Amino acid sequence: MKNINSHRVFHRNQKEPDTGGKYVVYWMQSAHRLHYNFALEYAVGWANKLDKPLLLYEELKNDYPWASDRIHTFYLEGMQEIRDYCREHNHNYLSFVEEEPETNKRAYLEMLRNACCLVTDEFPVYFIRERNRWLGEHLDIPVYTVDNNGLIPLGLTEKDPYNAYFFRKIMQRNFVEAYTHPPKQNPLEELKNREEIDIKSLRKKLPTRGEIPEEIPKFINELPIDHEVKPLEIKGTRQAALGKLGRFVQYGLPEYDEKRNDPDESKVSGLSPWLHFGKISEHEIVQTVLDHQPKGWDLGDISFNKGSTGGFFNGDPNIDGFLDEVITWREVGFHFAHHRPDYAEFESLPDWALETLRDHKDDPREWIYSYEELENAQTHDEIWNAAQRQLRQEGIIHNYLRMLWGKKVIEWTPDPQTALEYLIELNNKFAIDGRDPNSYSGIFWCFGRFDRAWQERPIFGKVRYMTSKSTRRKVKLKKYLDRFGDQQALL
Ligand SMILES: Cc1cc2nc3c(=O)[nH]c(=O)nc-3n(C[C@H](O)[C@H](O)[C@H](O)COP(=O)(O)OP(=O)(O)OC[C@H]3O[C@@H](n4cnc5c(N)ncnc54)[C@H](O)[C@@H]3O)c2cc1C
Repeated sequence: MKNINSHRVFHRNQKEPDTGGKYVVYWMQSAHRLHYNFALEYAVGWANKLDKPLLLYEELKNDYPWASDRIHTFYLEGMQEIRDYCREHNHNYLSFVEEEPETNKRAYLEMLRNACCLVTDEFPVYFIRERNRWLGEHLDIPVYTVDNNGLIPLGLTEKDPYNAYFFRKIMQRNFVEAYTHPPKQNPLEELKNREEIDIKSLRKKLPTRGEIPEEIPKFINELPIDHEVKPLEIKGTRQAALGKLGRFVQYGLPEYDEKRNDPDESKVSGLSPWLHFGKISEHEIVQTVLDHQPKGWDLGDISFNKGSTGGFFNGDPNIDGFLDEVITWREVGFHFAHHRPDYAEFESLPDWALETLRDHKDDPREWIYSYEELENAQTHDEIWNAAQRQLRQEGIIHNYLRMLWGKKVIEWTPDPQTALEYLIELNNKFAIDGRDPNSYSGIFWCFGRFDRAWQERPIFGKVRYMTSKSTRRKVKLKKYLDRFGDQQALL
């Protein structure tokens, strides 16, 4: 990886590979896919260099924050698909699905006992961030975390980007190089040593068998996780993600720019759940979308635009609009969190936002709602309640309404810190794409992160505000309110 992709690899300790080990391990922690995966490619490189087989490892524990039937089901469906693929293609795959509390650590330490080195995913938030640090500090073998998250490698930025414009400039300067060095479509094809690892014996040494259940509902019913957050209709598989992308390119993309803000129109991609679980890579989304540029368009048409939106790809404006979301807006949050361990703390807001929110902390609020009232969509505002119902039912909120949903909570809680706490809880508990760098960038954006100061007003100070009244005027909501409005039951 002697190109832009060298900025993707983080050697977490200065250890040398144990050549006496039996295999190289690739542990899928956030990029749960076997295609278009830089970390897997890197692991295959080590296996080939050391002439060892490769062990693919996935685990699901029970005590992760916000563990629920919803997340467990989506995750297990994805694991089943990977397991079946590995069976079919004779790849060495080990799962550990935790049944008894706190056994996962014993399982992965056992699995790593005979490893030459560990390659895993770089992910800048949630327990994975902490676990990667721990692994680097405690293992006696080399730990490499490889950034699979987006187009612009995390190691390329030197500090946290303070807004999208700043990051967009970096993106525009590096886009062509990053785009022309994509991950390989099927890195496992290049694996030389195809020796079979004795998974059966390895499994016997684990605290429990750890196999992926066939009947997910029955299995999760017994687990100490939140059973009130119900599974979704969408499937956590790569196949579902590719289907979603295909339909979006055909039906959503051609009208994305004009209609993406209308909840009634469904012109957005809906890809964030699969992006979050790494079922699909951003590179392949960008490739698929650029393949739909008008005839005659090529990379030579791209022109550096000093960080402005539009006028960069110079093809179909719908593609410009969509790629600005999927590259700039998605990745700015990853780069921010990568440089800022305090990404989830109120104090990480820009100084101007902290100051103005403090100045208005004691402003009177017309409505104050408890966490339970918000969770149960019991406010006076029908649009907000509808967004909260969609979140509970579908694990997602339409993009435009998600902004309104976040902003309103600032208005309806005693102070901004409480609003932040409630929003993180609601989002990460119910959203299937939650617990992601974009969860934090979206929520903190409501408080001023990546934004600028606006005209001063009560409660918000100089932080941008939004109203349900103007939302009702601006976007099409009729069908949305029929589905999720106050006359509907709370599921
Ligand atoms: C309060 C709040 C909370 C949010 N929580 C999350 C979250 O938990 N997980 C999450 O992935 N996104 C979150 N977002 C960002 C955004 O709302 C979603 O990414 C988007 O709605 C996903 O829908 P889509 O896939 O149809 O988007 P599309 O419009 O089809 O965009 C494609 C992709 O681009 C990225 N993207 C689009 N808009 C944004 C944005 N504003 N910021 C960052 N990335 C973006 C996403 O990866 C998305 O899947 C949040 C935003 C707000 C305001």
